Amino acid sequence: MSFSFLPIASSSSGNSTIIMAGSSMVLVDIGITYKLLNSVLLNNRIDIKNISALLITHAHYDHIKGLRVFLNKTNDIKVYTREKTKNILIKNDPGLSLHLDRFIEIKESSFNINELNIKWCKLSHQGWGERDNTGEHIGFVFNYHGQQLSYMTDLGEMDERIIDLHRSSDIFFIEANYDKNLQLNSGRPWGLIQRVIGKYGHLSNEQTAEYLYELVDVQKTKHIFLAHISKECNCRELAVKTIKEKLKAKQGLDLERIKIEHETEKVYPCLTKTLESCIIKL
Ligand SMILES: [Zn+2]
Ligand SMILES: [Zn+2]
Repeated sequence: MSFSFLPIASSSSGNSTIIMAGSSMVLVDIGITYKLLNSVLLNNRIDIKNISALLITHAHYDHIKGLRVFLNKTNDIKVYTREKTKNILIKNDPGLSLHLDRFIEIKESSFNINELNIKWCKLSHQGWGERDNTGEHIGFVFNYHGQQLSYMTDLGEMDERIIDLHRSSDIFFIEANYDKNLQLNSGRPWGLIQRVIGKYGHLSNEQTAEYLYELVDVQKTKHIFLAHISKECNCRELAVKTIKEKLKAKQGLDLERIKIEHETEKVYPCLTKTLESCIIKL
């Protein structure tokens, strides 16, 4: 019985992660090309046909880039997402309506894919108005035989409802998008900066640290993976340092016991490695 995840790509230029639980293999987002996804999987001796389902968090391009080709090249893998997101995806790419029967709208608060139980929550994240409508953005909590993995990228803030759902996970796959000072001094247009640091943007290292302080269970949590790190406005080591400093203050927490890591330098960490060397087992 194994429960693990494989981050294939994680950054503003592409997001895609595999969650493996027993006989189930779920792909979260497809923000890289089908060709690249397939080559990473083949490199790890995984047949793309063995994917049980694709979950789409929201309709931003860095999460759905390879979707159309994925649907064309695979026959019966279902795509789970919220109805609003499905509608936006089809509006933006009418060719996807050829595969309408492959879309499953996520409605119930909890659903199963084989032995993997999945809960979801709305996350605070939006695009730039109508032209950049992302549908309804969601995060996931995966449960497999009592072990829990939280998956949250692309969010500007968390409320109590989100914190309650994700509290005490064994593993957190969570974004630490930017360092506030680097963001403010980035020279980017002020409107973009405002959007990123706003409540519908992304989490800063400091925010992620504050939330993890609430979310981490001193006994249960084993692993924190920092995702969706901005290339322009963050530094991986700084992200890890900020999170560690905050967690140090949490009473009863042995920081040595928790693995805290960030996405690797390469966008596609597994391209040249075998699955065994980059898989993270719970
Ligand atoms: Zn994104
Ligand atoms: Zn986004």
